[in-house]
Amino acid sequence: MNKQEAKKRIQKLREEISHWNYQYFALNQKTDITEAARDALKKELSELERQFPDLVTPDSPTQRIGSVLSGELKKVRHAKKIYSLADIFNLEGLKDWEKRIEKLVPREKVSYVCEPKIDGLHIVLTYKKGKFVRAATRGNGVIGEDVSHTVRTIESVPLKLKKEVDIEVGGEVFMSKKSFEKLNKSQKKKDQTLFANPRNAAAGSVRQLDPRITADRNLDTFIYNSDEPDRWEHKAGHDLSVALFSQSEILERLKELGFKVNPHYKVCRNIQEIKGFYNSVKKKRNDYGYEIDGLAIKVDSLEQQDKMGRTAKTPRWAVAFKFPAEQTTTVVEDIIVQVGRTGAVTPVAVLKPVSVAGSTVSRATLHNQDEIKRLGIKIGDTVVIQKAGDVIPEVVKVLERFRTGKERKFKMPKLCPVCETKLVKPPSEVVFRCPNKKCFAQQRNSLIHFVSKKALNIDGMGKSIIDQLIEKDLVTTPADILTLKKGDLLELEHFADKAADNLIKAIEKAKRVHLGRFLFGLGVRYVGEETADLLARNVLLEPSPTPRLRRAGRGRNRTLKEAIDSIKKMGLEDLEAIEGIGDKVALGIHQYFQDKNHLKLLSQLIKAGIKIDSLDFEVATQKSRITGKTFLFTGSLKKFARDQAKDLVRAKGGRVASAVSKRVDYVVAGEKPGGKFKKARELGIKTIGEKEFKKLIR
Ligand SMILES: [Zn+2]
Repeated sequence: MNKQEAKKRIQKLREEISHWNYQYFALNQKTDITEAARDALKKELSELERQFPDLVTPDSPTQRIGSVLSGELKKVRHAKKIYSLADIFNLEGLKDWEKRIEKLVPREKVSYVCEPKIDGLHIVLTYKKGKFVRAATRGNGVIGEDVSHTVRTIESVPLKLKKEVDIEVGGEVFMSKKSFEKLNKSQKKKDQTLFANPRNAAAGSVRQLDPRITADRNLDTFIYNSDEPDRWEHKAGHDLSVALFSQSEILERLKELGFKVNPHYKVCRNIQEIKGFYNSVKKKRNDYGYEIDGLAIKVDSLEQQDKMGRTAKTPRWAVAFKFPAEQTTTVVEDIIVQVGRTGAVTPVAVLKPVSVAGSTVSRATLHNQDEIKRLGIKIGDTVVIQKAGDVIPEVVKVLERFRTGKERKFKMPKLCPVCETKLVKPPSEVVFRCPNKKCFAQQRNSLIHFVSKKALNIDGMGKSIIDQLIEKDLVTTPADILTLKKGDLLELEHFADKAADNLIKAIEKAKRVHLGRFLFGLGVRYVGEETADLLARNVLLEPSPTPRLRRAGRGRNRTLKEAIDSIKKMGLEDLEAIEGIGDKVALGIHQYFQDKNHLKLLSQLIKAGIKIDSLDFEVATQKSRITGKTFLFTGSLKKFARDQAKDLVRAKGGRVASAVSKRVDYVVAGEKPGGKFKKARELGIKTIGEKEFKKLIR
């Protein structure tokens, strides 16, 4: 290849590589070519560059990792002061802010762009004619440090933009939770200091002198502002000459230029919508792969931003709405044990009530005895507790300095605190169990599970009714619930004639049930909603005696008894052969259906009149358009309750997923769809509305 040809080839290779990098790193899309294929392109490129060294340019993808800096990082002065945002911590603060800014633009409508606030390190990237020239830290806002050599190793930072523009952009460098864990693991192995959190780790990685270290740490970026939209407008050349009017347009434009922009932003028209979005992000914050510490809220209109201006420290048109602290300290007043539905005995710390993550907490799970040992926790200790989302809080650390000597050790009781049966612990497990199948605690929790929404869904039968039924000795097993009479219910507190009628009706209705729901309601260990459904589908039909029909999956509808008998007959291997059922789950199912108490219960349930809902059989007898397809629901549907829609899908032979993945065929978006919707779009999954969904399942 002569130099002229090499030059052309090099040009094409660079374009191809940056195209795939953009798809993969910035748009987060699954690419048609694998990483190995991208590497092959890079290898060919560096080979050519080695042959023709004078064709190497700084924006070549081979040039991400440069040489090690000596001395220290160079100081740089920012072209414009980098402001930080004022923090607000609650709805009052948000409302006050709204009042202040509305006065600055009287009689105008204000809308807002809300972006998840990434807990990372702020950086400023400078491009000249579309080429990366510098990256700097925020520093004190006026003077920062030059970190070009490390930031250019981050693959989501484009070395060359899609347009030849002069531009300065701001954003966040961060480390994903996964990379953070991996990094700390390897630090530990090397006996080096651990990082306290992903933000510190990201900052430490960017401020390295040796770019090879940074390149190794899997940093990522989200870019969200450009302080000079007017410059794009006037100087950026004809195809970028469209004037930008809003922050949301800036975000879209940044994406077009090749930057990675967080897809989870939302334009809100008022405080009410901001509040809703804030709550939904807060609820999902643990599902994001990176740390978020609140929302950045900006007035969308650039013209209004100009009118509002800045104070000495912060812009008036933006605030950071922080999440409430998720950790706090309190005192352990006692450690008790609780017995769950499967008999698992869990130690629980009884805390001096304390407010954390916006709610008052008085209990924290201690998981098991190993965890108690690991924490070294004693009754009377001062501890740090942590609350993640809606799950029960955990104790993360004991503050031993506060010990007075009066603290008491916790001892796992030998007997079940509820029924006084001796607790057992299989050697392979960490959890103690109450082996008494008639244990009140287990009974109560099993009953609650059996009637719950995702199982038999008996409308109107709540915990307090179950408690009274047990108290009055009216109910001990799920089968007893199905044989309740109106007269029984009238014995309960505050139970009027009408309420009793309604509950009896609900019980009757629940007797026709999808087999999957029924199996889920039994509370078989490790069998969740989806597994129950898989199992159900495998036993619904008695395979046809004619081989041809049998191979086509045809057969006769089974009764509930026949279906249960066929599960009973399945060996471990038969169960494991069902796609989606692993060995642990198979063992749980097998053990359940061999236990003679369970078999007794099952025959009582059949006797009580439970029947398989005929809708179930349609799955097996007719192939519908959605047979084998996987659905995911997001947002609220108008015509269906969420569980009803899921049932319909299952009844037609489809599957229901709870998280977005490549496995999903359709995302059904109702009103106000959440982040799942956006993610699905990014993955290129087909998204449909309620109308189309209705057509599909017809
Ligand atoms: Zn017990």
